[in-house]
Amino acid sequence: MTKYALEINQLNKTYKNGVTALKNINLNVEDGDIFAFLGPNGAGKSTVIGIITTLVNITSGSVQVYGKDIAKYPEFTKHMIGVVPQEYNLDQFIPIIETMINIGGYFGLSKKQALKKTQELFEDLGIWHKRKSTPRELSGGMKRRLMIARALIHNPKLLILDEPTAGVDTELRLTMWDFFKKINHDGVTIILTTHYLEEAERLCKNLAIIHHGEVVKSSPMSDVISSTRKHTYIIRADSNITDKNIFKDNIHIVDDKTCELTVDNKISITEIINHFNDNNIKVIDILSKRNKLEELFIELTQTK
Ligand code: ADP
Repeated sequence: MTKYALEINQLNKTYKNGVTALKNINLNVEDGDIFAFLGPNGAGKSTVIGIITTLVNITSGSVQVYGKDIAKYPEFTKHMIGVVPQEYNLDQFIPIIETMINIGGYFGLSKKQALKKTQELFEDLGIWHKRKSTPRELSGGMKRRLMIARALIHNPKLLILDEPTAGVDTELRLTMWDFFKKINHDGVTIILTTHYLEEAERLCKNLAIIHHGEVVKSSPMSDVISSTRKHTYIIRADSNITDKNIFKDNIHIVDDKTCELTVDNKISITEIINHFNDNNIKVIDILSKRNKLEELFIELTQTK
């Protein structure tokens, strides 16, 4: 089997209204990866997901899932992929266990097989006790977990998560991260879109950033973490900093004793503190304003 779960070659998409959403996209996701697919609103992420899941037509180029062209092998693609969309699209009036059995049936699972898999997934996701409820009776977080279970009923090899933790509280988010790591460990490749860059940084091995329909970055996460050029700190001092001419243009005064400082990431925290000291200012507190991935994301998507 190919080493890639997903291969996108020279993919272009122009919608009927003339909007060009994707311009010659090339992207590979390795089997076994947790891959962050990032970009600001309107960048083209949903279009790519729509194409992979065969809801959106390709203008030109090709997409392969586990080595097979999605246009030529739609059934294979459907079986290999599970998708958790952003919006709830659950049958509101059917007990959720029934929904799972029905969807299992659609993928050729017997009732017994579907029940077994559902129990396993619902227990892992903490919603087994709600199996007889309808989606209307579930909280937002439970519905989200149900959508994840539903996407996994047929044992897909590739799971696409479109903003899985949007609007989810911190505790549930951490539980969901553990679940994603577990299924990834068990052999499911994951593609994740998220606006929480910390989430991407923590979970993902590789990433791509898309901007105005073009891939502007594609690399291992570890490279990003070690390579961003600028870093922004929030610094609190013991005395007035507004009248001091330190760090010149790189400093943004928040209030008399607080500033934001953007420096080359080769400059260490000690150097910064020393520089303040040299100007007779004692640094009380210094913390990173953003993580490295956020720095890169802003650099690539807000400067053009
Ligand atoms: P993202 O998911 O990154 O926010 P999208 O893929 O939704 O980005 O959108 C990319 C571009 O394509 C945007 O300019 C958007 O307005 C446009 N677009 C998305 N869907 C359609 C559609 N069905 N018809 C026309 N234009 C669309």
